[in-house]
Amino acid sequence: MPLPLGHTAIGWAAFESAHKAGGCRSRIAAFVYVAVLANLPDLDILFGLIVNGNGSSFHRGPTHSLLFALLAGYLASQASRMWHRIPQLGFGLCVLLVFSHVAADMLLTASPVSLLWPFEIHWAADRSGWGGVIRLALLQSVQDFVIAAVMMVYLFGLRLFRRDVCLDGGGFALARKRTK
Ligand SMILES: [Zn+2]
Repeated sequence: MPLPLGHTAIGWAAFESAHKAGGCRSRIAAFVYVAVLANLPDLDILFGLIVNGNGSSFHRGPTHSLLFALLAGYLASQASRMWHRIPQLGFGLCVLLVFSHVAADMLLTASPVSLLWPFEIHWAADRSGWGGVIRLALLQSVQDFVIAAVMMVYLFGLRLFRRDVCLDGGGFALARKRTK
């Protein structure tokens, strides 16, 4: 299944595709916020671990649905009004970022999500304690590295297409827009 790295890469690609490039000033904050939103549905794993030591007991339920993406997207789009350090992202973009997680789980894994909850629900069938979840997040991430690599190629192509690549630095400098 896509893990935090894979979901973050897919979320960032969705963000870059839908969001007009700006300056580098708030880019790290934007990246952190995108990572949080793109991984938000998997909070149900943490909830299961805390409640009964099984990360799968509530996994892929309501948080992996269209309704959750709409609700969480609305709250996330309003969050910057309460705390100005949170990047200001529109409702549609926030919904897209949360839903990118649900779509990736749905398309890249065999077990179903609860897309139309409350009209359908599919809990994860397996059992995974703290050790299993940590092991999975750390070791079984080959697919995530492939996803991240594919997304990086996609983003590079996207920026070349938009002509907003800045080649005079490394890392985040790629995000700098040469022409405004
Ligand atoms: Zn998930």
